Amino acid sequence: MVKICCIGAGYVGGPTMAVIAFKCPAIEVAVVDISFARITAWNSDQLPIYEPGLEDIVKQCRGKNLFFSTEVEKHVSEADIIFVSVNTPTKTRGLGAGKAADLTYWESAARMIADVSKNDKIVVEKSTVPVKTAEAIEKILTHNSNGIKYQILSNPEFLAEGTAIQDLFNPDRILIGGRETPGGQKAIQALKEVYAHWVPEDRIICTNLWSAELSKLAANAFLAQRISSVNAMSALCEATGADVTQVSHAVGKDTRVGSKFLNASVGFGGSCFQKDILSLVYICECNGLKEVANYWKQVIQVNDYQKNRFVNRVVSSMFNTVSGKKIAILGFAFKKDTGDTRETPAIDVCKGLLGDNANLSIYDPQVTEDQIRKDLSMKKFDWDNPIHLQPMSPTVMKQLNVVWDAYAATKGAHGLCLLTEWDEFKTLDFKKIYDNMQKPAFVFDGRNIVDEQKLREIGFIVYSIGKPLDG
Ligand code: NAD
Repeated sequence: MVKICCIGAGYVGGPTMAVIAFKCPAIEVAVVDISFARITAWNSDQLPIYEPGLEDIVKQCRGKNLFFSTEVEKHVSEADIIFVSVNTPTKTRGLGAGKAADLTYWESAARMIADVSKNDKIVVEKSTVPVKTAEAIEKILTHNSNGIKYQILSNPEFLAEGTAIQDLFNPDRILIGGRETPGGQKAIQALKEVYAHWVPEDRIICTNLWSAELSKLAANAFLAQRISSVNAMSALCEATGADVTQVSHAVGKDTRVGSKFLNASVGFGGSCFQKDILSLVYICECNGLKEVANYWKQVIQVNDYQKNRFVNRVVSSMFNTVSGKKIAILGFAFKKDTGDTRETPAIDVCKGLLGDNANLSIYDPQVTEDQIRKDLSMKKFDWDNPIHLQPMSPTVMKQLNVVWDAYAATKGAHGLCLLTEWDEFKTLDFKKIYDNMQKPAFVFDGRNIVDEQKLREIGFIVYSIGKPLDG
């Protein structure tokens, strides 16, 4: 029986390994983590992450061929294939601070693999890493090898949070990069055989190591760039009377452009887009490619601009001050169908409004009050100018109220900001909400999900991203 071990039981390691276990009953899969709390949650009825469909497959495989454990060394030493899916956040200090990927967790995982291995291993980069990381890992492993042979593969993950299980069941492609040596090709074949249990052969792409590593950064940069492009267009639409939804539709109908990922919004978030573009920018700078670095930097700068623009629109619409006013925030996760708040635009919007002395009443169906308070009290790192900005003061934090219902959040509010596109927000009883709000009642739709016309007929003053303004 082939044994797989995945180091890192997070948003990627958990779901990807659950799907491998589900699709390959003859493979034993162990997911290990240094976080006792995370592993305990994976072994309980309350999984540590929310993903539609995940609970079902975990329950079917757990204890049969899928195991979650903190016995990292034991499972690593027994495995034939080791996936490394640890976090690779942006460095916050030292060389490359604010841009470069922090490979501390990766390095410690690689050293531990070298320490405990007793047979030859295939080590798979599942985390998103800078180009040439495999070379560094090879150095660490071969210099500590004790005669054991390692083959390093790059197999970046393209799942999107919120649709992870669907994406893993039916991936656009599986990318495997490896050395062009016989050993490297044999390792590629072994990993291909795992995916071949359910992925058609023509969707499995094999490349050299550096192409695979760079493709993941490139894919995220392209996706984020589309969002920044349409968001930049949304500002121009507001200035000219064009409607960004109509413009996106017309542009997306061109088959060379395509219609996906062209929705204007308050900005992109999530743990990956910004971090991976920063990593790309750093790699470009290290290779003397300043103009290329500047090009990709703009994608983040437009995203920051869009979040600021939204806050300014809220404040300026509400007679240039939100001081002492109650603003309902509907949605805090960075997108629907996830409880993940990493880099969510809601953090910047809420901080901006709290900074103008607003009282916030926040509701998100999947984000806990503890998480929201933690996110809003954290220091934000200024990547362009690596200094730590001040966290919110305890007094400001008192202006924050987290509730468990959209109607409670909006009761008595002067304004309502929609920041996540949760389906339940599309079917709210807006007449009831209007009746319970202060007048004039404002709606600021950061995801363009409401029927503006209907809301205007009810009496709301409505602002939607990139659309003609209310009269
Ligand atoms: P995460 O923070 O949710 O999970 C990482 C886990 O690794 C944590 O639970 C941590 O405790 C564990 N860990 C760290 N060092 C360890 C060690 N030495 N031994 C054992 N466990 C260790 O991160 P994530 O969102 O799952 O992302 C993991 C990687 O995948 C990152 O490189 C990310 O960029 C990439 N990625 C993420 C997504 C996504 O949507 N989240 C999508 C594609 C790729």
